[in-house]
Amino acid sequence: MSFITDLATVAAELSGQQSGITENNEVLKRIREGEHKAAKRPGRVSKRFNPSKLFFMCQTKEVYRRLEGVWEDLPRRTPKQVNDEVALSQLGLAGSAIHDAFQDRVLAPISGLLWGLWVHRDTGDVVGPCFNTELPGMPPEGSEEWHQALAENWRYRELAVRIESPLGESYAISGRIDGVVAVEDQWEVLEIKTVSDDYLRGLRRKPGPEAGQLLLEPDPFMELPRTRDIFQARLYASMLTRALETELVSGLDATACRGVTILYLSRDNPDERRAFHFPVDTHALTHQEQQIQLIHHLVSDGTPELAMKRCKNRSSSPALFCPFKDHCFPKKTRGKKQPDIQDGQETLE
Ligand code: SF4
Repeated sequence: MSFITDLATVAAELSGQQSGITENNEVLKRIREGEHKAAKRPGRVSKRFNPSKLFFMCQTKEVYRRLEGVWEDLPRRTPKQVNDEVALSQLGLAGSAIHDAFQDRVLAPISGLLWGLWVHRDTGDVVGPCFNTELPGMPPEGSEEWHQALAENWRYRELAVRIESPLGESYAISGRIDGVVAVEDQWEVLEIKTVSDDYLRGLRRKPGPEAGQLLLEPDPFMELPRTRDIFQARLYASMLTRALETELVSGLDATACRGVTILYLSRDNPDERRAFHFPVDTHALTHQEQQIQLIHHLVSDGTPELAMKRCKNRSSSPALFCPFKDHCFPKKTRGKKQPDIQDGQETLE
């Protein structure tokens, strides 16, 4: 099995070449496929916690959801809200299309890079989790025939990971990892994000603790992505480590996680990208499990008012489509005018 020395090397190599995503309208094709699927599919509601949403989770909302069994948000009604929703869904579709095309066309064909599931394009058989170098019935690894057989027969599928909860189904954490990547004899979790070109250019290197000194081996990865993205990637790394430790998943060494890499792709120009590396930190998962425990206690006690609120008032953006905003911020009702007491009317003291 051939391992890529370092994901940063891959990112650096890739940044000097075109992905081919833009030229052949791959993204446009995938956006249309996405629109078609979205039109047919009703909104999905998950009762489990999803790592991509945990950073902005509202504790109060999660308690009310479980107490009242209401999982869907309010429909978007005003013309502005509908427009915003359409614009957002189009941006989301473009982002997903670029994300999928990059996974399929750029990362999946690299020999021994991605570890995950592989779906046979004709039979639909799912193999793995494994590297593409471990797929059955393939020509000698790295040969032209090998690359051709991989492209024709196999499609990469993200690995689903799940942390079961003794508190019940609606307290489990589950999600799909964009990629698990081999780095020498270790592995990393890869999180892919599509962002605007402006945002991508704003991402920069952070001066290290020894800024100003010439470091013999300067860390090329000390940069500043979004905190929520780092949190999500670290959560996935801890979840996969736990799954390997408990043998829910096998094929990698649970002690060999080297960290996480966050790869930002430009939505405006898919050939623009930046990668950032962060070491392992299990705090994200511990913190999340504590939050889930707390939510469970508040549900058991029936005390949603003790949970933390994300909103300051009814106009805060998370409240706009939140079904519980009247619980958090009751509408002010104007008091009815009391009739004046007429002369001679008796009053009871
Ligand atoms: S209105 Fe805001 S604070 Fe209240 S439950 Fe909804 S999101 Fe949370």
